[in-house]
Amino acid sequence: LTSSATSPGLHVIHIAAEMAPVAKVGGLGDVVSGLSKALQKKGHLVEIVLPKYDCMQYDRIGDLRALDVVIESYFDGQLFKNKIWVGTIEGLPVYFIEPHHPDKFFWRGDFYGERDDFRRFSYFSRVALEFLLQAGKKPDIIHCHDWQTAFIAPLYWDVYVPKGLNSARICFTCHNFEYQGTAAASELESCGLDSQHLNRPDRMQDNSAHDRVNSVKGGVVYSNIVTTVSPTYGQEVRTAEGGKGLHSTLSTHSKKFIGVLNGIDTDIWNPATDPFLEVQYNANDLQGKSENKEALRRNLGLSSADVKRPLVGCITRLVPQKGVHLIRHAIYLTLELGGQFVLLGSSPVPHIQREFEGIANHFKNHDHIRLILKYDESLSHTIYAASDMFIIPSIFEPCGLTQMISMRYGAVPIARKTGGLNDSVFDVDDDTIPSQFRNGFTFLNADEKGINGALVRAINLFRNDSKSWKQLVQKDMNIDFSWDSSAAQYEELYLKSVTRGRATKRA
Ligand code: ADP
Repeated sequence: LTSSATSPGLHVIHIAAEMAPVAKVGGLGDVVSGLSKALQKKGHLVEIVLPKYDCMQYDRIGDLRALDVVIESYFDGQLFKNKIWVGTIEGLPVYFIEPHHPDKFFWRGDFYGERDDFRRFSYFSRVALEFLLQAGKKPDIIHCHDWQTAFIAPLYWDVYVPKGLNSARICFTCHNFEYQGTAAASELESCGLDSQHLNRPDRMQDNSAHDRVNSVKGGVVYSNIVTTVSPTYGQEVRTAEGGKGLHSTLSTHSKKFIGVLNGIDTDIWNPATDPFLEVQYNANDLQGKSENKEALRRNLGLSSADVKRPLVGCITRLVPQKGVHLIRHAIYLTLELGGQFVLLGSSPVPHIQREFEGIANHFKNHDHIRLILKYDESLSHTIYAASDMFIIPSIFEPCGLTQMISMRYGAVPIARKTGGLNDSVFDVDDDTIPSQFRNGFTFLNADEKGINGALVRAINLFRNDSKSWKQLVQKDMNIDFSWDSSAAQYEELYLKSVTRGRATKRA
């Protein structure tokens, strides 16, 4: 009767392809570490399983050592050996899987973008579960993320529950429905899934190609809890336009599907302690922010002649989703409006990378524009700290973290009203929103006119009403974007599902 008061925390195991700061391509990496830390703080036992990539930031892993076991796991009709490593990242226990497979799946110098990604990650998903089984783990929740580890859901029920790994409920989070992990149905066989059984419209069959299977669809169909990363995106993906082919599947499974807004890791993203900054600062000391602006201008060779010239920042993967044409337009518009623009970004799409290299070269020695086309974590911190405004003109945005980080650093967001941006950025001039929530500048239409309106309003306020601007900056810096409330929502989802699972087992 008293068990709820004294019950220990849950045992949660995340299985993922990314974890910040060691293996991060985008927001997924931030979520895995941020959510895990918040859950750990709430008293839950949280562990993470990752691939052991050759290109990880090994200097950010504590106490890395190989375990004295070899895990044999099935693939393509044979057993392959895997070495298991353990270490800590941000105080969290992490297991790393090193396959001894001739294809050297995680020895490629990159995380994704290999022609055999479907094989690499279906292999990883299988070993991760094999490891949990052989290690005798009894998690309450196995939480998998994105298409790379969505295989976990069908593998768990079809292959591992019969083997005795049966304590868990499965949670699947899709961070972006654009990436679904599809392949010819027969490719599922490699990791031991039965393609005949799964290649059906109500299971893993891709909704637009009937000889193909879809990993994300498998995650949705076979998990107990399905989440995405903001309430608005959760609505958008249920429409034909937003669901990228999965809207009907999500509607069928809508009872277990919910959008939970991501938080940010407020230990890492904290201007008051950030070691990457020239000067630490907080909402009551904006002089420190100005010094960071000066430092960045100096480092990048931008003109410091006019202190009042607004600095517009943008940090992003340069992919169509992010509204690259609008970013390009914003560079020229900012210049026209008398501002400075700093872009940090890189593109996996060759023609976009080339196009931005052209722009970067054109402005190479310019006083007010700088484009840095690479991934650079420390530079990203200094740009957030230096910027007065931050531009995010996404075509769609599942959650988006840069608007939250920029606000924490006192850079006011200028964002398109879509997905998670719509749940976190509220226009200063929108009378339908209570004034205490208004924190930035938004626009609806994904065109030049849309972004012009918002950028012009932002620069005008900055120039003409420094008192209101300062109040806005301070308000943004004080908003709570920590994981606390989102982690509480996950905790509730986990607990409800675990209770339901126990009830079903007893029945
Ligand atoms: P997505 O996951 O779609 O890339 P998010 O806004 O959710 O977008 O997360 C982006 C994260 O990646 C942020 O933490 C941002 O600071 C970081 N980031 C993006 N591009 C770069 C870059 N070129 N250098 C450093 N950090 C970057």
